[in-house]
Amino acid sequence: MQSPPKLNLDSSVVTLPGVGPETAKLLGRLGIETVGQLLLHAPRKYEDRRNCLAIVEISQKELVCVQGTVVELGLKKFARGFKSVLQVVIDDGTARLHCRWWNLPYLEKNFSKGQHLLVSGKVRDLKPRTIDHPEVEPIEEGDLEMVKRIVPVYPLTEGITQRTLRRLISEALDRVEIAEHYPADLLMGRLSRAQAIRYLHFPEEMWQPAAARERLALDEYIKLQLVIQARRRALEKKAPRLPCPGDNRLIKKFLPTLGFQLTDAQTEALRDIRQDFINGIPMRRLLQGDVGSGKTLVAACSALMVIESGYNVALMAPTEILAEQHYRNFQKWFNPLGIEVKIWTGSAKSDLAPESDLFEENREPMILIGTHALIQSKFRAPNLGYVIIDEQHRFGVTQREAFVRKGHYPHLLVMTATPIPRTLGLTLYGDLDHSLMRHSPAGRQKVKTFVRTADKLEKVWSFLAERLAQGEQSFIVYPRVENDTTGKAVLKEFGLLKTLFPNHRVAAMHGKLSGADKERIMTEFRANKIQILVASSLIEVGVDVPNATTMVIENAEQFGLAQLHQLRGRIGRGTRPSYCILISTANDPESEERLRVLEKTSDGFEIAEADMRFRGPGELIGQAQSGMPDLKFGNLLTDFDLVREARRIGIQILKAREEKTAT
Ligand code: ADP
Ligand code: MG
Repeated sequence: MQSPPKLNLDSSVVTLPGVGPETAKLLGRLGIETVGQLLLHAPRKYEDRRNCLAIVEISQKELVCVQGTVVELGLKKFARGFKSVLQVVIDDGTARLHCRWWNLPYLEKNFSKGQHLLVSGKVRDLKPRTIDHPEVEPIEEGDLEMVKRIVPVYPLTEGITQRTLRRLISEALDRVEIAEHYPADLLMGRLSRAQAIRYLHFPEEMWQPAAARERLALDEYIKLQLVIQARRRALEKKAPRLPCPGDNRLIKKFLPTLGFQLTDAQTEALRDIRQDFINGIPMRRLLQGDVGSGKTLVAACSALMVIESGYNVALMAPTEILAEQHYRNFQKWFNPLGIEVKIWTGSAKSDLAPESDLFEENREPMILIGTHALIQSKFRAPNLGYVIIDEQHRFGVTQREAFVRKGHYPHLLVMTATPIPRTLGLTLYGDLDHSLMRHSPAGRQKVKTFVRTADKLEKVWSFLAERLAQGEQSFIVYPRVENDTTGKAVLKEFGLLKTLFPNHRVAAMHGKLSGADKERIMTEFRANKIQILVASSLIEVGVDVPNATTMVIENAEQFGLAQLHQLRGRIGRGTRPSYCILISTANDPESEERLRVLEKTSDGFEIAEADMRFRGPGELIGQAQSGMPDLKFGNLLTDFDLVREARRIGIQILKAREEKTAT
């Protein structure tokens, strides 16, 4: 017998027997145009019909699975119509089975005589054979022979049946050669790609689909890592080296002025950075450290190394408030060392004309602090050796690169307090090296956190009043500035809170204020001239007021966990106990459970993982505005080990390729 002609993965589906333009169009709606795409159309679930019995074989009150045709159907009402029982009788040619549903009359419309059903559940009676409230699944005519198998169930579109898809996929599998995408010797101990695709569609054991998914996900991750690592290696090759070993001259003077020791975590991060500076290949490093872990000081010390080496430094913050806070800190720290500190934000521009140079030539090296207005500006930045970006999650990758290109290839440190779930760290930020600061300076208070429902608000306010009476200060946070129907807002509650706390000064802080107003309010809050700051999430990053000990967040369910954790990091910065009270208005157990994660832990990394679990990775990826590819099989929630393996394999592949071109 002649074997059927071979097909190509890139061939159009119309090359499959029985697929005309009409069917091709329908398949197109499922995103399937080629044979290869057809083979990667993953089932949405699998039905294990291997243990299906003939109805006549049912002889015990146990869990069973059977299939049959509906032969009788009826709804009986009783108790004056208040109660009902729906009975559906199926027959498989060997015997009959009665299926009953109590008090669910509307289910009747799902059934019709002649319909084929797959039924599973616990047998309740044997005479007649009866199951109450079974699971049922309609089966297509052509599926009746699919018993005693694990059956894939595909996402469909109108006009395409399960049976059609299974037939086409089976046909395609017989006719194509499925090659490995990457050298097989790097994938030892794994399924072959061909085997994985077979298991995906026609598994014989329930573990096989999962193994198939992993294998196909691994290929997706390798592809992604090749892009990331190639970009990284290209940078290392083309960027001129910029050694910045420094000579300790400034750091040596600086450290004793602090009045405290660097933490171990800070020292370690600085060691990583110094290593990169000595090596001279432009650093691309992500510094992750929980709120309050002291990242600014790491930025300052590393900036000194670069300044010692004779280059300028730029530090960029996501908001003006933060830029100004940094500006004050750096002035305090660097002016005594004779280093000039400049600020450049949207509203506080220091006398610079556009298109001029950010740094004047032939001047002593200095540090310039700004907001992202800096990135959008047309300024040139001569002799720029080092760029520090604070709170990266507010910036996209493209912005990051845009700014870095202002210099030639300056060193880059990206600082974030949003702990990045490990899988995202390896994918979204895979082209950056990582330094982690897990612990905060000793003596920092753990913020006691409580989740409360809105009916407890009165108690919450009287607790707040007690703290205020002790001379402490408070934040009260709302998810939005102006009212809409979805929850409370700063401007409305501000009025209310003023009447609630007549003996204290209350101020509203939000993004609609001018830079000058924001700065004035922050100054007054810092000086305890304002006791209560009613704020939007604007205060999320950076603000440091040690006397603020309480934070109430209303409509807390509307924030992400990582964001709440950041907000909460605004308090607990002094020596007194601090309290964060999360008011949950949503009436669903899941959002309450989510918030309770914050009661239990203050480990930002745990929180980030939980956040991703509850909200899915999409939102986090969205925040990073990256060109994250669609993963069909990969699941960033669970695939840390796979991503890590992919990274290792990706690096090996690139090395092998480079060696080949070198010889
Ligand atoms: P974040 O990592 O959130 O940016 P900051 O850099 O704002 O944290 O630091 C928070 C506070 O901790 C600041 O007041 C800072 O002066 C202080 N701090 C930083 N490092 C240390 C240290 N090693 N010992 C004590 N306090 C420190
Ligand atoms: Mg900070």
